[in-house]
Amino acid sequence: MPSLNWSEMSHLQLGRCAEYLAMAEFLSYRYEIYPSEVDDHGVDFLVKSPEGVLYEVQVKSTRGSYVYIPKSKMPRLDAQRLVCYLRFADRFPPELYVIPAYAWKAPNAVLVSRDYGKGRRSKPEWGINYAKKNLDLLRPYRSENIFSKIKERDKMANCVFCKIAAGEIPSTKVYEDETVLAFRDLDPQAPTHVLLIPKEHIASAAEITPENSAVVAHIFEIAAKVAEELGLGNGFRIVNNCGADGMQSVPHLHFHLLGGKKMGWPPFPEDE
Ligand code: AMP
Repeated sequence: MPSLNWSEMSHLQLGRCAEYLAMAEFLSYRYEIYPSEVDDHGVDFLVKSPEGVLYEVQVKSTRGSYVYIPKSKMPRLDAQRLVCYLRFADRFPPELYVIPAYAWKAPNAVLVSRDYGKGRRSKPEWGINYAKKNLDLLRPYRSENIFSKIKERDKMANCVFCKIAAGEIPSTKVYEDETVLAFRDLDPQAPTHVLLIPKEHIASAAEITPENSAVVAHIFEIAAKVAEELGLGNGFRIVNNCGADGMQSVPHLHFHLLGGKKMGWPPFPEDE
């Protein structure tokens, strides 16, 4: 149990303590830590998430209620910059929040944007305005909430099918609506080979839950429609490969729609 007499520490000591606590928090979520080579834009250290995405981290600590970052030190409000905010009150463990810079794109009572205007002494700043009555606005940035969000984003950043769904990688689409996309497989294993995916990132069939399963039912409706449109009236096969033993190679839920030729069964004829 550390000493909780934060008010007895110097400003410098508190800042160092905040930086180490921030690093410990990232380490506990299995991030790797790297020193920042340049310190002129306020970055205290770099972290790499377990999914391999790099972030710049700026640590901000206070015993009061307001801290700020000059806008010149955080000019781009992008997802690759995280502000680790620690608030210290005597007798309590510090409260720690991880706030992605893009959160300031929609300022509120806690995350404020201050532009003092021409001729004023203060420069434009992004601020964090702590008040007990506004704690709800900070809750999304508590570790237990934000790290799972970042993980989802990271997975999408690396996911080829998310990129296809976002139109960032080209595909030969055969069907699209708000939640589902169907496109031709690059390496067809049958005369007709289409992949059906949910646009939302679901890693595999093992990750289907009561919350996300509706899209799976919808995919099967679309599969029947697409099969008919592609002339598979004589039958088809829908295959889902799941996980390592299932030989899944793209970790974004997808169903193979195969047809156009009579197929064999069972899948392991050599074991018979
Ligand atoms: P699975 O082995 O079940 O994970 O299937 C992944 C499928 O995605 C394979 O059949 C690949 O040929 C196909 N695939 C991978 N990248 C692309 C892409 N960019 N466009 C279309 N199909 C792809």
